[in-house]
Amino acid sequence: MHHRLLARQLQRLMGNDFLPDESWNSFLQLVSNYYYEVDLERGLLENALEVNSEELTSANAQLRAKAEHEKALLQSFMNSIPDLFFAKSMDGVYMACNQMFERAMGLTEKEIIGKTDAQLLSAERVLSASSIEKKVLGTNQQIVMEEWITHSDGSKHCLEMLRAPYYGVDGKPLGLIGIGRDITDRRKLEEQIRLSALVYQHTAEGMLVTDPSYQIIDINPACARMTGYALEEVRGKSPEEMFNSGRQNSEFYELMRETVLQTGSWSGEVWACRKNREIFAKSMVVNSILGDDGKVNGFVMLFSDITEKKQANDMISRQANYDSLTDLPNRSNFRERLKHEILQAERARSSVALLLIDLDHFKEINDTLGHLVGDVLLKEAALRISDCTRKSDTVARLGGDEFTVILSRMTDPKHVEVVAQKIIARLAEPFQLGDSVVYVSASVGITVYPQDALEAEELLKSADQAMYVAKRQGRNRFSYFTQGLQTAAQERSRLSSDLRTAILENQFYLNYQPILDLDTGHIHMAEALLRWDHPTRGIVMPGEFIPLAEETGLIMPIADWVFREAAKWAGRWNDLVPGGFQVCVNASPVQFRAEGVAFQKTWIQYLKDNAIPGKCIVIEITEGVLLDADTDALEILQNFHNADIKVALDDFGTGYSAYGSFAKFPIIKYLKIDKSFIHVRSNTALCEGIIMMAHKLGLQVIAECVEEQLQSEMLEKAGCDFVQGYLYSRPIVAEQLDAILRHGAMSR
Ligand code: C2E
Ligand code: CA
Ligand code: CA
Repeated sequence: MHHRLLARQLQRLMGNDFLPDESWNSFLQLVSNYYYEVDLERGLLENALEVNSEELTSANAQLRAKAEHEKALLQSFMNSIPDLFFAKSMDGVYMACNQMFERAMGLTEKEIIGKTDAQLLSAERVLSASSIEKKVLGTNQQIVMEEWITHSDGSKHCLEMLRAPYYGVDGKPLGLIGIGRDITDRRKLEEQIRLSALVYQHTAEGMLVTDPSYQIIDINPACARMTGYALEEVRGKSPEEMFNSGRQNSEFYELMRETVLQTGSWSGEVWACRKNREIFAKSMVVNSILGDDGKVNGFVMLFSDITEKKQANDMISRQANYDSLTDLPNRSNFRERLKHEILQAERARSSVALLLIDLDHFKEINDTLGHLVGDVLLKEAALRISDCTRKSDTVARLGGDEFTVILSRMTDPKHVEVVAQKIIARLAEPFQLGDSVVYVSASVGITVYPQDALEAEELLKSADQAMYVAKRQGRNRFSYFTQGLQTAAQERSRLSSDLRTAILENQFYLNYQPILDLDTGHIHMAEALLRWDHPTRGIVMPGEFIPLAEETGLIMPIADWVFREAAKWAGRWNDLVPGGFQVCVNASPVQFRAEGVAFQKTWIQYLKDNAIPGKCIVIEITEGVLLDADTDALEILQNFHNADIKVALDDFGTGYSAYGSFAKFPIIKYLKIDKSFIHVRSNTALCEGIIMMAHKLGLQVIAECVEEQLQSEMLEKAGCDFVQGYLYSRPIVAEQLDAILRHGAMSR
């Protein structure tokens, strides 16, 4: 028997990953034959490989050398085997082992050979090993089983242990060999496969496996559940043909496949169709499966049903992009669309018109009829505006009572005007809101890209300015943005920054316009009117800067300064004039909104600190303050009343609200009839009516802006209490009024 042959054969057998049974058998045969032959030659049957050199005579030297040589060869061969290997005699004594076995035992060959398990292993392992070995030798059968062992370095290994008897040439068993293959990695892999199979079966995610040509090989239960198809129904078909919703074209799928081909995966959202024709959204990942050779073996598609999530997202995006009341695009959505339209127009060299629509007097309706009615009106207004536009136009609600229309791809500039006029006319039609019929009108600002502005934000701003012009011109009309408007806008922004320094630099002063008692012609009252001595512009009138101050919040410090200044003189003149004196101070609705009663308290405290009686101050408020839902008008009036400060209702007759809205507020002392009653509507009967009603409610009436003798006479006849106007005196500085008061009453 040639050991080389044995070695070669063994090597061939062991080289295979998994030895078939026949291979094991022939291997064992070879091993046992070899041992037998060596033993025969050496006459050492009991200790096949334990060569006792002493027992070998010199006559046997040649044989011994040969045996040594062969033993060395066999040993090196055994050591080259990646599996652990040992051979035992019939009574369990180790006769041979390789390095793998040494390593597993943590012992050297010398320490192992000649010993039994009982001398080497723990009692527990001895027990299990010996019972198996008994069985192997008893039944003459090989047994393969898995065993977990702990190496001397502490690492745990799973061995596939084969134990088999080996035989002599006479067919008698000579002992037992063991071959253990470390299958730890394989076990781990198997466990992984088992787990992934479990996942595949039980996951909520749909999984689908196809071959390289996208033909379905397998689907998991979740996929079957989601799509409604059983495996048999889809096997061999392509996912695209099975689940196509028609919402994505073939280019979409081509692109998907192309991406997978190039990058190995694709992910995205796909609309798919269930067996019951229901369409659903899925979020999907497609991965290619590569073989060892790097070729594509197939594809795995993983997907989940995101229809509900998508619906929720749609909801959220709807809420983020649409106004919940009118369902129109909201401000941010509008901005996006405007930008988009501008881009398109830039490319097409066309123009875009922007209409900014503000409902006139909406606030009053909201305040008097309630927010619910106001909401109904806004909805109806949204419908009417949409009615006036084409499908391709955008109608949006910017908030409050502000709407906007984007007219895209405008060719005829006349068209803009037609739409604007249509909208104004439709909004002027009566609104039937529950029981009440309400009239509103609209002021529309028009601006055009690219003439007026190039950027969306600028365009909106200029539309806003144009809209304000429409309002100032008397509402219920439209106005174009013009270059003049633009300079005015720039002017305003410059003015508002100047306004800041004005307070600090003491550029304000007050004029006082005397108010005469119609009966006596005496002056017991004057209205404080604010003036701004601008360093470069000269005197700026309140009509120019008060709205700016209101917008910027600077109205608060300004109002405070006005009050203190006016109160100072009021106190002096009250002491000076027999029968007392009152200074009327204008208050802006914004003051009440911003700080409510807080500033009121500081005023009242100021009066106390300076020993100025409250009764020499009259605060002029407008109807707006009474109707403002954001302020507690009653509380404000009550506070004034408690401090003995009188209240006048200014500009009466200009507001929207019906006469007598102030009847709810008995604390008001004076009514100031607006100049429009006296000038345009110079009408004795009307004035008489207002005055009579005021008197009935315990109010006294002041007529403003009396310019002509005729008006004065009319007012006297109508029973008016006080008059104020250029006819008697222009607003004058405090020192002037002081002089007049000191030198006696001014006569008519
Ligand atoms: P207003 O309260 O209605 O004040 C009366 C306005 O009519 C004053 O204009 C006054 O100069 C003007 N006027 C007086 N007599 C005649 C006349 O016979 N004919 C004509 N055509 N006008 C006359 P002014 O001073 O320009 O004030 C404008 C508005 O500015 C005031 O209207 C008031 O609302 C506001 N204002 C003035 N001072 C203050 C202030 O200190 N605080 C606040 N918040 N607003 C103020
Ligand atoms: Ca006033
Ligand atoms: Ca007034």
